[in-house]
Amino acid sequence: MEKTKIGRRFQGKVAIVTASTQGIGFAIAERLGLEGASVVISSRKQRNVDEAVEKLKVKGIEALGVVCHVSNAQQRMNLISKTVEKYGKIDVVVSNAAANPSVDTILQTKDSVLDKLWEINVKASILLLQDAVPYLQKGSSVVFISSIAGYQPQASMAMYGVTKTALLGLTKALAAEMAPDTRVNCVAPGFVPTRFAEFITKNDDVRKAIEEKTLLNKLGTAEDMAAAAAFLASDDASYITGETLVVAGGIPSRL
Ligand code: NAP
Repeated sequence: MEKTKIGRRFQGKVAIVTASTQGIGFAIAERLGLEGASVVISSRKQRNVDEAVEKLKVKGIEALGVVCHVSNAQQRMNLISKTVEKYGKIDVVVSNAAANPSVDTILQTKDSVLDKLWEINVKASILLLQDAVPYLQKGSSVVFISSIAGYQPQASMAMYGVTKTALLGLTKALAAEMAPDTRVNCVAPGFVPTRFAEFITKNDDVRKAIEEKTLLNKLGTAEDMAAAAAFLASDDASYITGETLVVAGGIPSRL
């Protein structure tokens, strides 16, 4: 992160990032914070929230931490109200939480697992935005985190991929609904070696096979995803809405 030239595009802005105590969400919060935003970070566990807030503060970032399991209605509302209590408004919402609870084929996936995938990966984002809408400023911005798997759902995580496809549609639909005051865009990461993608780091052959699928012959970093999310959330993207930016080292997505 230090090597990247960082601007101050979010000076005076307030940004909420869900699932942001590690991995891609943390990197996004850090990037927005380094660019001047007051960032509100959250995840399911208080200890993770406290540690992440500390890490951001050490870097001089103004940060508030609130526990929020994205499928808990009360915790979603609390995330919004604590943000507004402290900072008075919301300029950026990055909806980053996702679950991938099963490696079953779609036709073998249990009813309860289908519900969980829909609830965490899609529905919670919608419900969080419903709570946030009254406080979203003119010129505000929403960023969803989809996946390259949304373009080509892979075996063993196919239903997860389908929920990520849904986010591409949600981006288009909400961009229309929330225009002109709020832009809605999406980042579709390729493979990033986080805890969520442990299968990559655990197995050298899998890692190599994925690297070879990219044109750049390497995995992505959380900072790569953060740079894309920050661009879309910033005024540099002020004429962009309803779009998904694929950040996948050249893995095929679409023409
Ligand atoms: P990660 O490193 O495993 O981090 C997950 C974060 O989410 C943690 O801070 C975790 O903290 C929090 N979290 C998990 N479940 C939550 C929930 N239900 N509610 C609130 N917070 C929750 O994951 P990641 O790889 O950065 O993934 C972030 C996003 O990128 C996801 O949407 C994922 O689908 C997408 N993505 C990742 C990759 C990849 O290769 N890594 C590729 C494409 C897309 P707690 O444990 O404290 O809750």
